[in-house]
Parts: sequence; structure tokens; C-alpha cells
Amino acid sequence: MTSTLKADLELFNQMVEILLNEEAIKPVAERIDAKELYSRLDLSLNESPMVDQEFRDVLKKVLVTTPKTATNLFFNQLFGGRQGKAILGDLLAVLLNNSMYTYKVAGPQVGIEQEIIRKSCDLVGYGHGSNGTFPTGGSMSNYMALVMARDKHDLSIRTNGVMKRLIIYTSKESHYSNAKNASFSGVGRGNVRYIESDDNGCMIPSKLETQIKTDIQDGGTPIYVNATAGTTVLGAFDSVDEIADVCEKYNLWLHVDGAYCGAVIFSQKHSSLLKGMKRSDSFSFNAHKMLGTPLTCSILLVKDKKNLNDSFSNDAEYLYQTDGDDFNLGKTSFQCGRRNDALKFWTLWKSVGSKGLEEIIDHQFDLADVARTYVRNNSDYTLYSFDNSISICFNYKGIDANKLCNALYEEQVTVVGFGAFKGVEFVRFVTINANNSPEDILNFFRVMEDFVDMHPELLD
Ligand SMILES: *Cc1c(COP(=O)(O)O)cnc(C)c1O
Repeated sequence: MTSTLKADLELFNQMVEILLNEEAIKPVAERIDAKELYSRLDLSLNESPMVDQEFRDVLKKVLVTTPKTATNLFFNQLFGGRQGKAILGDLLAVLLNNSMYTYKVAGPQVGIEQEIIRKSCDLVGYGHGSNGTFPTGGSMSNYMALVMARDKHDLSIRTNGVMKRLIIYTSKESHYSNAKNASFSGVGRGNVRYIESDDNGCMIPSKLETQIKTDIQDGGTPIYVNATAGTTVLGAFDSVDEIADVCEKYNLWLHVDGAYCGAVIFSQKHSSLLKGMKRSDSFSFNAHKMLGTPLTCSILLVKDKKNLNDSFSNDAEYLYQTDGDDFNLGKTSFQCGRRNDALKFWTLWKSVGSKGLEEIIDHQFDLADVARTYVRNNSDYTLYSFDNSISICFNYKGIDANKLCNALYEEQVTVVGFGAFKGVEFVRFVTINANNSPEDILNFFRVMEDFVDMHPELLD
């Protein structure tokens, strides 16, 4: 088969055409049952090359049967939609294929990454000593924050390992990476304290303090608190200001996990949800969630860049040969070779400006208001979530949420997921796709209600 780059890119353009047309006609992809996956699609890898036409056909089939995350009927995840300028940047990053560890190999891309970090630190309110990095995702951002907290508590842990019982704190509603990270970092899953949240899903600061006191009395060593800006189910914001009071009192590292909704720092109207954020030690957000860049684009910011260096730098003579540490970003990253995740965010930000990013965020909250108002004004619905969240949690006509979401998925009607809070299960509908209009939001409810009308057995 022919394999010139130009021909392959032409094929790419054809595939784009096919995919976009398909999305317009069928916003929910044809679903292949997992049990039939290998019999319905030829995914096999074989000895001999494939002829062009067959290759094209199989590629097309894979494309159209892959779940469509950018259409107006996908609400399952904390990402969705497309920002064209970010896609452009990501495609160029693939073509350029740099690795972000040295200036020698990444050149201006280093400046692009640093400019994003600089501007983001300014928005958080971190001072000149701050810096950051682009980890592989929000889970890794949380992990790096925890490792910095551990090492700040006692730098000798880098050499000797963990010798005492370290304790970390997070809310019951926080992301599951906190548990895994405790295990990876040597803290141990058993030393994570899950603090109760209030009726709005926000960590209760007084319960945090009580638990810290108990742990100290028991001979434990508290080191770290994870606050969440946008909990995974309810989209709730912990009170960073009140949690910071506790952290300062007991000298604990405060990390704000803003993977889901930390990007509210771009909105004048909504950044007050993070009041007190500049008192934190580290802060992370995923541009691939609220800001709509392709996956993954996660930014970790650190108030004092010394902590990033202390935990992650390592000399390597074969790698760092020119240009100095400030330009060799491998000195503050987890990986060695590192994908360029910055360019896609930069092309978006550069083209629409900070104002444009603000509009993206504000639009999602406006869409959430549309959804909440609809649910509130319709007695067939029960609402479980609160204002200031882009997760709208509800039940419809008392139908089991698990059953309803699965039926919608299996029948390829719309893709939406379910969650639970304090023992109650419900549909979690997210308005994170900024390409959607208020009509798209109302259309979701109409499509779901029509489906239920046609499936009265769901009401049993
Ligand atoms: C999505 C999410 C994460 C994990 O981020 P990944 O990039 O998927 O690893 C962590 N915390 C919260 C609150 C999230 O919503």
C-alpha cells in the first residue's frame, strides 16, 4: 500500500468528512455490543499488508461505530463537544511531534507551555514564585500534588521512604484518584480520611478539623488536604477559604482539585466559587473538561516552584545539555518524554482571548440554568443538585436511573450517566459541551421523555 504523508493526510480529510456527515445524521453512534465486538469489526492484525480500499473501509467502519462524544446527544462524561481552534493546535502538535523535556527539542513550545502556566497562576492569585506543569491528567495532577506535600513535610522521604504514619484528607465526594494516589505515594489507602460533606456535597470544614485533632492524638501525622472544585457527581465546590483556615492552623498542604470545574478561574462571574484559592499550595484544572480542548490537557499549578523542583527534578547528563533549567521543562515533570498538550490550549486561548474562554465557561452555567429550570418546573422530575453547578442530577417519573440510562444507551437514543449522593441514585446530566444551545438542552429532555412514553415498562 502507498504510504506518503500527503496521501495519508488526504485520507484523513476524507475521514473527517465522513465522520462529520455521520454525526449530523446520527448523533449517537451505532452501538456494537461488547460481546460482538470482534465478530462485527475486523480489528485483527495480520502478517500481510492490507490493500488501500480495504484499509479505508475498515477505518470508516471503526470511525462510525466509535461513540460520538462531540454531538448534542452526548452527556455522559465530564467532557464533550469540540473547539475547532484547539483541534487545530492538537493536530499540529502531532505533526510537529516534539517532546516537552528540553528547549533543544521543543523550542518555542516551551514558551507556549510556560505562558499558559504564567497566566493561569496570575488568575489563581499565586505570586511570582509560582510555576506548574502539564501532567497526563487530573489524576496525575493530584498525585504530583500529594508527592510535593509529602516531600515538603519531610524531604528525607525521597531517600529513606515513608517512615511514619502520614494522613491525608479529602471529602467523601472527591475523585477516586485520591485513594490510588495514597497507595502510590507510600501514604497508604488506609490513611486517607474521607470527610463528610454537607447537603450540597461540600466538605464540612469543622469535621475536617475534628478528624485532624483525632489523628494527631492517635500519633498520626496529617500532611495534606484535597479540596475539590467541582465534585465528580454533584459538581459541588468545597469552600477553599474555610478549608485553608484549617490547613494554615495545622500547617497542611492544601491542594485544590479543579479537574472538573477549576476553569471557573476564567470567569469573572463564577470565579468567586473558588474564593480563597490563592491560599492553596497547588491547584489543578483540566482544559479538556470545561474548556473543551481534546483530551488530555491538564494543568497543575504550584504556589512555590521550589516544591516542584524538590520532588521531580533529577540530573541526567545525557538529556539536559543546553539552555538552563527554566527552559528545560523535564526538570519539573513526572515523565521523561512528554507529549505537547500545551499547544492545543494555546491555539484556543490565543484565538478567542481570555474573554472567549470566559464566554465558554459562562455559557455552560447558562445551559445548566436552562436544564435546572426545566426540571424544577416539571412535576415529573425530582431535582437533586443545586445552583452553581453544571451537573444537573434528577430522576424522572421515579424511574430507576441505572435502568433508564442503560436503556437510552442500548437503544442509541442519547448517552447520559447516573450517579449517587448520600445513598440516592439519579441521572447525572452535564452541560459541559459549550457547542450546545438552550434548544439542545431542551431537546435532550424531549428525546428522553418520548423514549419513556414508548417504553412504559420502564415505569414498572
Ligand atoms: C476528571 C476528574 C479527575 C481525573 O482527571 P483525569 O484527567 O481523568 O485523570 C480528578 N478529579 C476530578 C474532580 C475530576 O472530575
